[in-house]
Amino acid sequence: MRKHERAGQTQFLMNTASNTPQKRILTGDRPTGRLHLGHYAGSLVNRVKLQNDYETYILLADVQALTDNYERPETLQAHIREVVLDYLAVGLDPKRCAFVVQSLVPEIAELTIYYLNLVTLARVERNPTVKTEIKQKFGHEVPMGFVCYPVSQCADITAFGAHLVPVGDDQKPMIELTREIVGRFNQYYGETLVLPEGMYAEVSRLPGIDGQAKMSKSLNNAIYLSDDADTLKKKVMSMYTDPQRIRGTEPGNVEGNPVFTYLDAFHPNTALIDELKERYRQGGADEKGKPLMGDVVVKRELIDCLNSLLDPIRTRRAEFEKDDAYLWDVISDGTRRGRARAGEVMEAVRSAMKLNYPVKL
Ligand code: ATP
Ligand code: MG
Repeated sequence: MRKHERAGQTQFLMNTASNTPQKRILTGDRPTGRLHLGHYAGSLVNRVKLQNDYETYILLADVQALTDNYERPETLQAHIREVVLDYLAVGLDPKRCAFVVQSLVPEIAELTIYYLNLVTLARVERNPTVKTEIKQKFGHEVPMGFVCYPVSQCADITAFGAHLVPVGDDQKPMIELTREIVGRFNQYYGETLVLPEGMYAEVSRLPGIDGQAKMSKSLNNAIYLSDDADTLKKKVMSMYTDPQRIRGTEPGNVEGNPVFTYLDAFHPNTALIDELKERYRQGGADEKGKPLMGDVVVKRELIDCLNSLLDPIRTRRAEFEKDDAYLWDVISDGTRRGRARAGEVMEAVRSAMKLNYPVKL
């Protein structure tokens, strides 16, 4: 483990095969709590792969977290720490990925202000998330910070000159708005900003342990990467399965049964899972009347499978947890690298907008 090395200062990784500069990727998370299996399947695995081929910036989006947690700013520091521990534990390499604290890159806020001139309220209100929240929750009393968050996401992406943004296809509207704003900027002020592209993964949302469509922190239905074996066991044993199946001897449903969804997502042995599914579908009893394939058997398989997945993650996390100084070093270094990049972009933006006055400060 590279625990005691200082985080690298690599500014620009070269693509070894072609010796051309690597393309840049921007991803991120709102630091609102520990990361769970949904994050793992939905984004972390992909990021660990992509870090080998792209210069990666991972934004710890504390400013965005404030848009709906503004009355609890004191939680952010602990959450940033937890999220970065999860990153390191799953194998994100701080030399390849810059972990950047959003609020420490004021260029993002500055860009947001300039972009706000290039987009109308009506356009932002068509963003599905904004639209839904206004309709269902806020009405006209919607905080401006929330209305503007799609524009600030555009600033997040462009501040680092990201070429690619790996997201679920549900994030398409955000990429589209960003491309519109970038197009408009380049049209008014000259080719300056990189026109980013979405790198879409078809999202299959991991359901919650309660059977709800999405595992989510705020729904309290998540298995966290940092859950210990006991917690994991309790959670899996309490999992929702097939509500139609009253007795384990009855034929069971595999489709829409989250235990099987998790096995499909995480179990390496698909042949074994196919066999379990087949037997679960059939049901039936042994000579003593006991179910041939009860929920408990399937859940035990899932517990073993998740422990195999999580054990190395837990071990690495525990190591990193011992060294807070290293952790904040990694965050400082990543933020410095992010800020340096954003500074270059900002200079180009100011010059394109003719804001590069001959003023000496
Ligand atoms: P909150 O409850 O605060 O909204 P959350 O647990 O829903 O938190 P987010 O921070 O909203 O997590 O998720 C960030 C990103 O992580 C999503 O855009 C998605 O890419 C991925 N993700 C989150 N939950 C899941 C899930 N259940 N399945 C697949 N991907 C997920
Ligand atoms: Mg969410």
